[in-house]
Amino acid sequence: MKIKKNISLKKYNTFNINVKAEKLVLIDNVKDIQDNLSEVTKGNNLLIIGGGSNILFTKDFSGTIIKSNISGIEEVQKDNEHVYLKVGSGVVWDDLVQYAVNKGYGGIENLSLIPGTVGAAPIQNIGAYGVEFEEVFFRLEGIDLTTGELKEFHYNDCKFSYRNSIFKEEFKNKFFIINVTIKLQLKPKLKINYRALKERIKEINEKDLDIKKIRNLIMEIRKAKLPDPKIIGNAGSFFKNPIIEQEHFNLLSSKYKDLVYFKLEKGMYKIPAGWLIEKAGLKGKIFGNAGVHKNQALVLVNLGNATGQEMLELAEDIKKYIYNKFLISLEMEVNII
Ligand SMILES: Cc1cc2nc3c(=O)[nH]c(=O)nc-3n(C[C@H](O)[C@H](O)[C@H](O)COP(=O)(O)OP(=O)(O)OC[C@H]3O[C@@H](n4cnc5c(N)ncnc54)[C@H](O)[C@@H]3O)c2cc1C
Repeated sequence: MKIKKNISLKKYNTFNINVKAEKLVLIDNVKDIQDNLSEVTKGNNLLIIGGGSNILFTKDFSGTIIKSNISGIEEVQKDNEHVYLKVGSGVVWDDLVQYAVNKGYGGIENLSLIPGTVGAAPIQNIGAYGVEFEEVFFRLEGIDLTTGELKEFHYNDCKFSYRNSIFKEEFKNKFFIINVTIKLQLKPKLKINYRALKERIKEINEKDLDIKKIRNLIMEIRKAKLPDPKIIGNAGSFFKNPIIEQEHFNLLSSKYKDLVYFKLEKGMYKIPAGWLIEKAGLKGKIFGNAGVHKNQALVLVNLGNATGQEMLELAEDIKKYIYNKFLISLEMEVNII
């Protein structure tokens, strides 16, 4: 375990916001946190972080930030169809994807290149290109930060939904995730129906697809569309895609003939938040040090020296603008601290 005091968080968040934390504790293993629980949790104001790729710091953090450096990918079980990998929460998510793809294990190749750590993947049930993390989730272990007890969570305990789980709600900052076990396919079933992926496959006329090729294609699409946080600070999609009812959908689709949507069950429709922001004319717009990315309207960017407060003000302004134009209330996907 390492403890750093009064430390800049600039390299601990992908927005590159330069705020300070009173205390940062880096955890290397489960014993670290169990043996030092009272010291780690002293003062009560706690925040858990992974790679800081879904967080916007708006001010200095007075309290303790806990970050997992727990490593290791272990094959704990295998049957005719599946392999089970138990993975340390501090493992970089894309290193896990690379590992699985190299071994020929299917299920997470569509989630290639999502920044962050394995411990954070269940928190907002990460998803991309037609795959959600919950589809491969098997089990996780987390430390109750109040009692120090190691608790096991199974699928039904996690209450996964679109970019959400119990760990983003009532258990937020209550359980420190130690490891996550995922279940992958030994004979991969490819998922290639997501529009952008399907179109790319058609374009290159690729017939003999496998998980390695899918990973490469997804990395190529993502690199063309999304800004690299090492170059331009960002946290990926800033807002969730809103879901609207039939009546509201009818109103919008009669007004906007080019409305993009995904039909859900029970007369509900998901509208891409990026489409709304682009339609409102905000794509590529710069407001001081903050802006809306030129290739992907759903991504807000720090153009160099923006403060977290400036980024938040931009997000709030966008929310107001979208509400006034479409009567849709956008919800932030990024954790505002
Ligand atoms: C360029 C870019 C592209 C992105 N694309 C996608 C995408 O396609 N799909 C998608 O779903 N997301 C995407 N994201 C968002 C982000 O990568 C994910 O949300 C990721 O899971 C965050 O991981 P992290 O380790 O950085 O977590 P952090 O941002 O550090 O933390 C996120 C949340 O997880 C909690 N947390 C982290 N570690 C632990 C732990 N060990 N125990 C308990 N709680 C923990 C934190 O308290 C916080 O609430 C993108 C981000 C960027 C910058």
